Amino acid sequence: MKGRRAGNGVIVAEVRDAEITIVGGGAIGCAVAYCLARAGYPDIQIVERGELAAATSSQAAGLVGQVRGSKERTRLAMASVALYSKIEQETGYTADWRQTGSIRIAMTTERAGEFRAMADVAASAGLEVEFLEPGRLAGLFPPLDTGQVRAALWCPTDGYLQPHSLVMAYARAARDRGVTVAAHTTLTGITVTRGAVTGIRTSSGSASTDMVINAAGPWAGAVASLAGAELPVVPVRHEYFVTVPQEGWHGGLPVLRIPDIRIYARAEVRGILCGGWEADGMSLDPREVAVGSHWPSHPTGMSSPASPLISPGSSPRSPRPRSVRYSADTRRSPRTAGSSSGRYPGSAGS
Ligand SMILES: Cc1cc2nc3c(=O)[nH]c(=O)nc-3n(C[C@H](O)[C@H](O)[C@H](O)COP(=O)(O)OP(=O)(O)OC[C@H]3O[C@@H](n4cnc5c(N)ncnc54)[C@H](O)[C@@H]3O)c2cc1C
Repeated sequence: MKGRRAGNGVIVAEVRDAEITIVGGGAIGCAVAYCLARAGYPDIQIVERGELAAATSSQAAGLVGQVRGSKERTRLAMASVALYSKIEQETGYTADWRQTGSIRIAMTTERAGEFRAMADVAASAGLEVEFLEPGRLAGLFPPLDTGQVRAALWCPTDGYLQPHSLVMAYARAARDRGVTVAAHTTLTGITVTRGAVTGIRTSSGSASTDMVINAAGPWAGAVASLAGAELPVVPVRHEYFVTVPQEGWHGGLPVLRIPDIRIYARAEVRGILCGGWEADGMSLDPREVAVGSHWPSHPTGMSSPASPLISPGSSPRSPRPRSVRYSADTRRSPRTAGSSSGRYPGSAGS
């Protein structure tokens, strides 16, 4: 194969004529490349403006949860877990998948009722879940303060992975099946002839192609516009932080989700990676995201472009050892009393 080997082990080729051109070398683009190559498509290239996995994918928290509100979404997530569980065996490349299980905490009886509905959906999809009694919850997650827990839904096959590792595993496995990667190559135009894609224009020249797959993440709207299509994709910024090591936290702990206070957490080595489901997360107007822009223009109120998230080793403002403080509303101090009754206070039963 013509090309040079980049530091990440992936052969970097020139843009070329190809049956299928995938725009974007993030989690989606590399996954699609791998799956199509595995399915027998022989002539695929990825065109990536920068380096593989260097945009949003590598900044993801990497949670993999299967408990969803519909049977279809549950099955889709189950298919992801099935793939992550065997990708290393299948390809020889690791995604650093850790099947730790996950615990979803309800702090209100209403939320506990919602969890029961989710458990019914899980059962209909064939996903194993169960409600935990307090003793079992404390055993599975010793650092957790269980005082305000009304119900705890356990999914033993959930977990987390390192998204950068996943992208590189897909990319390397795709490369082994003949996919080429044109890195540092920006797609600048799509040639459409009589309603069908026939070619691409890039910062490194033009090429013919029968199909363009748009996997440009936050830039997907801009790429679609090159073919005259309008794609209603709105990039939304999400934040998490990683603490310094905390007593009792280690990589084998389950993932925690606490929707009543809009927080999730997992161990990152011996620290805590904690993020929130922002009620009013900052979003970008996709019409203002230009093809080839270094980063989508930032929304009003952001003083600087979205930057890499706080990295491991950074000091959180208020690390709290031995208990997770679910302070979405930081003015409220959580109670610390645990429950030893064998049932959660106010629990409608589990
Ligand atoms: C295992 C996993 C867990 C996740 N967990 C979470 C989570 O807990 N919470 C959460 O919010 N999100 C999560 N995410 C989602 C994540 O935050 C990103 O939204 C997702 O990975 C985006 O993938 P992408 O491939 O669409 O985009 P990107 O990774 O951004 O890739 C798009 C690529 O397209 C390239 N590109 C753009 N325009 C052009 C052009 N004109 N020419 C050439 N190349 C171009 C860019 O350079 C970029 O590399 C998770 C993702 C994974 C894989």
